[in-house]
Amino acid sequence: MSKKVCVLPGDGIGPEITAEAVRVLNALNLGFELESALLGGAAVDATGNPYPEATQKLAREADAVLLGAVGGPKWDGLPREQRPERGLLGIRKDLNLFANLRPAILYPELANASSLKPEVVSGLDILIVRELTGDIYFGQPRGIEMRAGERFGFNTMHYTESEIRRIGRVAFEAAQKRGKKVCSVDKMNVLETTQLWRDVMNELVPEYPDVELSHMLVDNAAMQLVRAPKQFDVLVTGNMFGDILSDEASMLTGSIGMLPSASLDARNKGLYEPSHGSAPDIAGKNLANPLATILSAAMLLRYTFALEDAARQVENAVKKVLAQGYRTGDIFEAGTRKVGTREMGDAVLAAL
Ligand code: NAD
Repeated sequence: MSKKVCVLPGDGIGPEITAEAVRVLNALNLGFELESALLGGAAVDATGNPYPEATQKLAREADAVLLGAVGGPKWDGLPREQRPERGLLGIRKDLNLFANLRPAILYPELANASSLKPEVVSGLDILIVRELTGDIYFGQPRGIEMRAGERFGFNTMHYTESEIRRIGRVAFEAAQKRGKKVCSVDKMNVLETTQLWRDVMNELVPEYPDVELSHMLVDNAAMQLVRAPKQFDVLVTGNMFGDILSDEASMLTGSIGMLPSASLDARNKGLYEPSHGSAPDIAGKNLANPLATILSAAMLLRYTFALEDAARQVENAVKKVLAQGYRTGDIFEAGTRKVGTREMGDAVLAAL
């Protein structure tokens, strides 16, 4: 198999944090071909287009894409078509990325960063699998129009069974590599679309005899995530519920600089990026935490290339540097050792 990775540093802290993840990938000596291209504001400055043709070509030909972040105040005044975010939406759509995977892991060393009690969250390790291309966010008809003399707003929630089945499979297969439990989140007591969601999830069970499936209504899931989040392994849900629950879950950890993400297509081609933005306030100052991007590279190893051992090696190196007391400013506490972006990368390389 070829191992082409398209690297898109983007804007703000993007170039600094992707540089550290690239050093980690190179250090593993796995024969990756890494090539960089422009996305977001950097691409607008160079070409006038946030997702230029050269980037499209490279991203389509690659097996995986590693992205930093895009955006910043410099481009906020541009017309909508030229905004950096357009580049991000453009590449996600172009690559048919329908499955968004967001782990929320709380390393015991960082338990104080959470707003929840350390005993509730310490050791948390859950994975939210969110459907990304369907649901009420894309359903037609939609709009705001005049009806019977007043404004009327409407959207349409829908899923086909094949859309549900393919995201269900992503969740079951991810659970097979983890704690072997899937909790499917719906609102079947009120919404027919999500009754179908539950039915199709149940139909998948015979294909994955080693995985235990449970169901939860979304209101209860929102509650359980803050009450007892460690009960979950993999949570799978639709686009809208997933949007909300994945943000809730990521905040359980309290440290945005630690959270990776993956968006996959039907053949496990993926776009891997930290969950945070381009942090223009600290860009170019060697202050950004590169660990979310390094952990995104670990997801790239696991999900696109099925290199589970290498993925764990990177994750264990991150655990080790935290245990050794290395901290960037965003996760710093008294008694630990404050380092910059590059020094954190050095520490991870040493731990590898
Ligand atoms: P942000 O995530 O960039 O920053 C929020 C806060 O977290 C800031 O104080 C920042 O310094 C800090 N932070 C973020 N990542 C960090 C890291 N790795 N290490 C240390 N501190 C970190 O969100 P924002 O300020 O709302 O947005 C800034 C820009 O990023 C905007 O232009 C926005 O559109 C863009 N953005 C891009 C993405 C993306 O590329 N996927 C996502 C969100 C926001």
